[in-house]
Amino acid sequence: MKELETFDVVVVGGGPSGATAAHDLACAGRKVLLLDRAGRIKPCGGAIPPRLMRDFDIPAHLLVARINCARMVSPSGKRVDMPIEGGYVGMIDREVFDEWLRARAEAAGALRRTGAFERFSRGEDDVAIVQFRTRDAKGAETFERVRAQSVIGADGALSLVARQAVPHAGQPKYVFAYHEIIRSPEKRSEDYDAARCDVIYRGAISPDFYSWIFPHGATASVGTGTARKGLSLKDAVKTLRQATGLGGAETLRREGAPIPLRPLRRWDNGRDVVLAGDAAGVVAPASGEGIYYAMVGGRYAAEAVEALLATGDARALKRARSRFMKEHGRVFWILGIMQYFWYGSDKRRESFVKICEDRDVQRLTFDAYMNKQLRRADPMAHVRIFFKDLAHLFGLARA
Ligand SMILES: Cc1cc2nc3c(=O)[nH]c(=O)nc-3n(C[C@H](O)[C@H](O)[C@H](O)COP(=O)(O)OP(=O)(O)OC[C@H]3O[C@@H](n4cnc5c(N)ncnc54)[C@H](O)[C@@H]3O)c2cc1C
Repeated sequence: MKELETFDVVVVGGGPSGATAAHDLACAGRKVLLLDRAGRIKPCGGAIPPRLMRDFDIPAHLLVARINCARMVSPSGKRVDMPIEGGYVGMIDREVFDEWLRARAEAAGALRRTGAFERFSRGEDDVAIVQFRTRDAKGAETFERVRAQSVIGADGALSLVARQAVPHAGQPKYVFAYHEIIRSPEKRSEDYDAARCDVIYRGAISPDFYSWIFPHGATASVGTGTARKGLSLKDAVKTLRQATGLGGAETLRREGAPIPLRPLRRWDNGRDVVLAGDAAGVVAPASGEGIYYAMVGGRYAAEAVEALLATGDARALKRARSRFMKEHGRVFWILGIMQYFWYGSDKRRESFVKICEDRDVQRLTFDAYMNKQLRRADPMAHVRIFFKDLAHLFGLARA
């Protein structure tokens, strides 16, 4: 029987988390297989913070738009424009961005394969064997197997690696998100501006999350999300498009996917597998921001695997989660409470949009979003926001 090829690490999934992990480990001189099933553009609003561009050396030409204002729209139709001072929200096209990341990993030395992960087994020496399915040009299927000293599961929200290798990781909590990619209107109007993101809070089209219009240059993403069953997301987006004058725009794609909103309790199997990105459940509650956190998760998973390979100590894998939670756990916790409270009813959404008029709220929100740090420089701003929040909570502020 032919001897199986052995890799230091097999990365399953070539989205932002897997491509980042594969790149970092290839740069460290490891023998890496990056396995992605390909064939589908990831449904995504494509909004990323400047911090991502800096931390992961992303060239500016990958941005299809720079957003300088966010418009918050309340259930009653009240609009609050929040200018983004001293920065921007970047917009990417996931078809181009993900492929660029995978190509960078390959250029760094990772071997790329197109194929779908199927299952794990173990050889006589206990080393993991990864089985995956490939198709030739005529569509005929072949099953292949490789040996892996370690595995990174970066195969997205419905991760098969997580289900097979880390079955006690905990129950993922999902919002289901659906969007339509439309051709952007040629002219700017009151309803559409190519440099503005619109975030719409209305229970009828998203009872526990939000809806959005995100411009991507020649195209735009119009979408909504909810964790509740029973709401037709297609009808909700239809309603949103009609209400914003986008009903007649050409629809290029219709697609949806689950967004996990809670980090899993465990990201590793205590032996040789660690999860990253959506597979580990790391998308920020309230905002649904996952690309930056997926790339951070991919980087920490790569560091944990590098430590495992260097020392043979499987406890090193735990560092991926502990480091991530130390850095971002508090923000996830605050955003989770925010989502639970402010997205709970139209009355609360109305107050939430009202709060967004506040200059301190605007400054701190964008500072936290763009730089991924809670600002300490202006403690009085936090105090002011705290008292304003209380006033809104107890109905003392005028709506
Ligand atoms: C509608 C929508 C809008 C969103 N908008 C935003 C936004 O504006 N900004 C933001 O930051 N985040 C957004 N997100 C979240 C963001 O898209 C994800 O958090 C991010 O893509 C996670 O990256 P990942 O690499 O972990 O997983 P993914 O991007 O899902 O990548 C997983 C990869 O694994 C591959 N794969 C899956 N199964 C297998 C298998 N069995 N074998 C081999 N390969 C496999 C897939 O082909 C894919 O390439 C949005 C999500 C949705 C659904």
